[in-house]
Amino acid sequence: MTKRHALGHLLAAIPPGMTRSLRLAHRGRYLTVLCYHRILERGADFPFDDDLVSASPAQFESELRFIARHWRTIDFRMLRDHVAREGRFPDRSLIITFDDGYLDNYEVAYPLLRKYDLPAVMFVTAGYMGKRRLFWWDRLAYVAKTASKRSASIEEPIRLSIDLDSFPGRQDAARHLIHTAKTLPDGDKELFIRRLAASFEVEIDESRFATTMGWSDLREMSAGGIEIGAHSISHPIFSNIDGDLLAHEVSQSKAVIEKELGREVISFGSPGRGRILDEEKERFEKTLRDLVVSSGYSFSTMYQWGLVYENEFDAFRIRRIGIESYDTPPVFRAKLSYPELMSY
Ligand SMILES: [Zn+2]
Repeated sequence: MTKRHALGHLLAAIPPGMTRSLRLAHRGRYLTVLCYHRILERGADFPFDDDLVSASPAQFESELRFIARHWRTIDFRMLRDHVAREGRFPDRSLIITFDDGYLDNYEVAYPLLRKYDLPAVMFVTAGYMGKRRLFWWDRLAYVAKTASKRSASIEEPIRLSIDLDSFPGRQDAARHLIHTAKTLPDGDKELFIRRLAASFEVEIDESRFATTMGWSDLREMSAGGIEIGAHSISHPIFSNIDGDLLAHEVSQSKAVIEKELGREVISFGSPGRGRILDEEKERFEKTLRDLVVSSGYSFSTMYQWGLVYENEFDAFRIRRIGIESYDTPPVFRAKLSYPELMSY
């Protein structure tokens, strides 16, 4: 058992109601926002990024049962209305969010959310809806996980030699390549993927894979209690693009989704940031926050981990708690009750 699991077991033994009362007494009301990506049963030959799978269907269902028992699940519209009406957060409130817009959100997560009558917010990548396109991290994972050649080397955009056998597993190699891509300017990242695929002699035929939702799926969910939020147009590495493109990605994703769904989009989920210096992070987040505000959103999630306290609430820097497929039930429960002890 790892330290993290031991801590999870210990903390999960404390009843959630008791934790909440103590927290309320010390810090006041708060909101819990969970971050999921994919809900999926992975086969042994799953060719994409395992790290984006947040739970298996059975695991997700047991998490929903726990949430339904102890929290009041809302979305950003309900939060906005409640705060406008009462001047404060609803008690015991929790928001379930999903990033990216994967098809399993509609096929697997949505029926389970309906079964437990829980709302959720799905932040979708507008330019990928209804298209057969693979996100950049899935293309890199596909190269690392399906290559029959063991090694490759490229000269552009960076010099890199990689031996797949030097990693414990193919997903580890994929993770290494994804981390490397996060250090590159976004345009170079595309060249990086193309050159690697060529060197490994892997053909990425995106038309073979339907991994993202279609607009009709989103319309159905929007009518069925799911709030659709924006998550950019093309999901570039957000800190590694220029200011004009950043502004376009933030404002146009809202416009495109609103046009397709005929409904206002009030929330923005910021796509992943690159690996940048701490002082750059601050400047980047301020620029991004300003763009989200000027684009007309009412809420956005940012890159911080933790709970959202009413007395220090910034609607444009909402913290979340990331849920992972390797979270055991005690770790999941501890993450919800003691997120500050369970962050990475
Ligand atoms: Zn994302």
